[in-house]
Amino acid sequence: MSAKSLNSAGSPVALVTGANKGIGFAVARELGLLGGTVYLGARDAARGESAGRALRAEGIDAQVLALDVTDDASVARAAGRLADEVERLDVLVNNAGVAGPEVLPSETPVAEVRAAYETNVFGVVRVTNAVLPLLRRSPAGRIVNMSSVLGSLAHGAAKDDPTGVFPPGVFPALLAYNTSKAALNAVTVTYANELRDTAILVNAAEPGFVATDLNGHRGRLTARQGARIPVLLATLGDDGPTGTFRAEDGTPDGVELAW
Ligand code: NAP
Repeated sequence: MSAKSLNSAGSPVALVTGANKGIGFAVARELGLLGGTVYLGARDAARGESAGRALRAEGIDAQVLALDVTDDASVARAAGRLADEVERLDVLVNNAGVAGPEVLPSETPVAEVRAAYETNVFGVVRVTNAVLPLLRRSPAGRIVNMSSVLGSLAHGAAKDDPTGVFPPGVFPALLAYNTSKAALNAVTVTYANELRDTAILVNAAEPGFVATDLNGHRGRLTARQGARIPVLLATLGDDGPTGTFRAEDGTPDGVELAW
C-alpha cells in the first residue's frame, strides 16, 4: 500500500473531529507533522485551544475549529469558516466518538443507543455532507471514519477478533457502541460508492485498543500508535483502496477487516 506525502498536492488541509485529546489529537499531530494545515475540531473551546497550543509549539500549523458534531448550527458554522479560510479540504478524519454504556443489550436504554448514534453515526453524516464541497475541490481527497472491530457484523457473528485484542470466542456485546459503529461502517461503504468516480477515497479505520478516556485507559496502545492506521488511510496514494476497513494488528500495513 503506497502512501503519498501530504505536500504533494501543494499545501494540504486536514480536518480531524474530536481532535482535542486521545487518538484524534495524535492523528492531528501526525498529519500536521507531514506539513500543511490541520484544523482541530473541538466542541469545547478551552480544550481545543490547549491542544492547538501544544501542536503549534511543535511547529505545526494547527487551527482550532469549534465543532460539535451533534449540533447542526455548530457544524454549519465550522464548514462556513473553513470555506472562508481554505480553497479546499484534502483530508477529513471523522474521529469524534462516544462509548455508550457497558451493560447487556437487554438492559440498554434506547436513549443511550440514540446518544451513541447522534455522535458516532449522525455526526459523521452531518460533518461529511457539510465539508464535502471542499473535499471535492481536492485533487486527492481522503475521508477516514474512525470505527471499531466491534462494529464488524462478520467478526461479531464469528466471535473472532483478527486484531488479537479479544481471545477467540470473546466479543463484547455493547449494543449502543457496536451497532453505532456497524452503522458507521455502512455509512463508509455508502459514501465510498457514491464517490467512486471522484478523487475521494473513503475508508474506515480500527485504531487498535488504545489507552484513552473512552475506555478508562484500559487500552494497550498509546494514542500515537493508534494514529498509525488512520494516518495511513488519510495519506493513501491515488491507487489506494476505497470502501475498505483496516485495523491495527502490529503488522506494517495493518489487517483488512470484514464488514
Ligand atoms: P477519547 O479520548 O474519549 O476522545 C474522543 C474525542 O471525541 C474527544 O476529543 C471528545 O471531545 C470528542 N467528542 C465526543 N463527542 C463529541 C461531539 N459531539 N462533538 C465533537 N467532538 C466530540 O476517545 P478515543 O479513544 O480517542 O476515540 C476516538 C475515536 O476512536 C472514537 O470514534 C472511538 O470510537 C474510536 N476507537 C477508539 C478505540 C480505543 O481503543 N480507544 C478503539 C476503536 C475505536 P471532548 O474532550 O469534548 O469530550
